[in-house]
Amino acid sequence: MTIPLVDLKAQYHSIQDEIDAAIRRVIDNTAFIMGREVAAFEEAFADYCGVRHAVGVSSGTGALFLTLLGYGIGPGDEVITTPFTFFATGEAISQVGARPVFVDIDPVTYNIDPARIEAAITPHTRAIMPVHLYGQPAAMEEINEIARRHDLLVIEDAAQAHGSLYRGRRAGSLGHAACFSFYPSKNLGCYGDGGAVVTDDDELADRVRRLRDHGRINKYEHGELGYGHRLDGMQAAILSAKLPHLDEWNEGRRDRAARYARLLADMPVVTPEHLPDTTPVYHCYVVRVPDRDRVLQALKEAGIGAGVHYPIPLHLQPAYRFLELEEGSFPVAERMAREVISLPMYAELSDEQQDEVVAAIQAALEQTAVA
Ligand SMILES: *Cc1c(COP(=O)(O)O)cnc(C)c1O
Repeated sequence: MTIPLVDLKAQYHSIQDEIDAAIRRVIDNTAFIMGREVAAFEEAFADYCGVRHAVGVSSGTGALFLTLLGYGIGPGDEVITTPFTFFATGEAISQVGARPVFVDIDPVTYNIDPARIEAAITPHTRAIMPVHLYGQPAAMEEINEIARRHDLLVIEDAAQAHGSLYRGRRAGSLGHAACFSFYPSKNLGCYGDGGAVVTDDDELADRVRRLRDHGRINKYEHGELGYGHRLDGMQAAILSAKLPHLDEWNEGRRDRAARYARLLADMPVVTPEHLPDTTPVYHCYVVRVPDRDRVLQALKEAGIGAGVHYPIPLHLQPAYRFLELEEGSFPVAERMAREVISLPMYAELSDEQQDEVVAAIQAALEQTAVA
């Protein structure tokens, strides 16, 4: 039996009638771009996150880009972030013309290490962009305190953290603004590309609303040069159908995570820590194993959809050669990039499937121990 890393079909089958009805409604109303479906989803998602505004955009990358632009961050500015993330986090900073300044990560949470942030602040620093990696909230209290002291913006990259909680508050409400992706495999995913900027900042919300739609101030008037970064009605309708299920799906992921931890407890496998005061949402279930690449290969051969998030930290990406950051610059991130492995994770993952994944890991570890 093959077991995928994520199973989007299983999720669809569990709410097929609701999704089909949402798609039908969009076709019946021919509201394909923006319109009432987008407005309705924006209201529901802002409510869910506990903030005043959600602005639907074309992707998570678009959300990051428009938020940075919306705050006027650009050439000459620096934004502090983690090197251990999906490429788009750094890319958005670079695309507005600013410079990403990487800070090494905490080896327990895999998130930016707050103790190292202040040393990276310069007179050019405008913002800190923590990523809630794998759905585990970053150390927001410490980060916000540093930002207050140095008068910096805090922009959450919440693309992996829909619904996670930090000290009782949702990801998305923990900084000045937050960026979500609705890429299909995210905890809340649409059936194409989509994203959102969420914020309590009225001015930023207005600015992003204009920027996403060609700088429009009304149907025919363009107040500034903007972008084509709108959210589709179809995607918004699908997201509205899925949002009421998000908490239950995240609960299912936490249940699966707890079961993995029990099953893996006696093996030489480092399982994720569930920190007190946070409710993670396990976008990825990431463990560390000795001889990662051989374990990965063995799992692939056993039909298990394992992955690596991420094998190359941003500072070592070919595209970032111009930053001239050598190997050894961020030792914790570099080590994790060599050791992490993502196991199949979704609410519908059955006990039998999970047992099979664990048995395959055990076999792989025994094989690599012998070899
Ligand atoms: C997925 C993701 C993004 C980008 O989202 P897209 O919708 O694919 O553009 C950005 N940051 C992180 C951490 C992500 O996981």
